[in-house]
Amino acid sequence: MCKLYTLTMEAKTALIIVDLNNDFLPGGALGVTGGDEILPRVNQLARSEDYALVVATQDWHQQAHVSFATWPAHCVAGTLGAELHAGLDLANVHAVIRKGFDVDVDSYSGFYNENGASNGLAELLQTRGIDQVDIVGIATDYCVKATAIDAVEGAGLKTRVLLDACRGVEVNPGDVANAINEMQTAGVEIIA
Ligand SMILES: [Zn+2]
Repeated sequence: MCKLYTLTMEAKTALIIVDLNNDFLPGGALGVTGGDEILPRVNQLARSEDYALVVATQDWHQQAHVSFATWPAHCVAGTLGAELHAGLDLANVHAVIRKGFDVDVDSYSGFYNENGASNGLAELLQTRGIDQVDIVGIATDYCVKATAIDAVEGAGLKTRVLLDACRGVEVNPGDVANAINEMQTAGVEIIA
C-alpha cells in the first residue's frame, strides 16, 4: 500500500540558488532592488528536508569580461562583489558552480555558457541522480530565466521556479512577466 508513496519520495530534487553575489544585492555594482529580502526564504529552503542536493551558482568574471560592454563591471574574481552574500548560509550549500569565468564568453545560465560549454552543473546533478530542480535567486528576468530554461531544454530536468524566492531586474516594465511567459513556454513550472 505504500508503493506509490515510496515512488514519489524517490524523486530526487535539487535546489539551485542563482547568483546571490554581493554585486547583485542592494549596494552592489548591479544591485537588484529587494534582492536581500529573499535571503531568509532561500535559507529556509536550503535547510529543509526537501532537497537531496543544494547548489549555488556564482557569477565570476575576469577584469575585462565581455559582459562589461552591456553591464557595469560586476562580480570580478577576487573582489568582495564577487563573493556570495554573507546572508546566504553556506552551511546548507553543498556545491558552488561558477559561471562566466571565460573572459570572452558570458553565461547567464548556470548550466551552459553562450557557446554551449557546460559549467559542470548538469554533470553534477546527473552524478547525484537528480531528476527535478527548484530554482531561486537573482535575477528572474536574466540568470534565473536562463538557468531554468536550460534545466528543461538542456539537462532534461523537471523544473520549477519559486517566485517568492526570486527577484527581477525589470530594466523595462514587463520584463519579469515576459520572462515568466518564456519559462512557461519552455516547460518550466512557475510557483507563485
Ligand atoms: Zn555577470
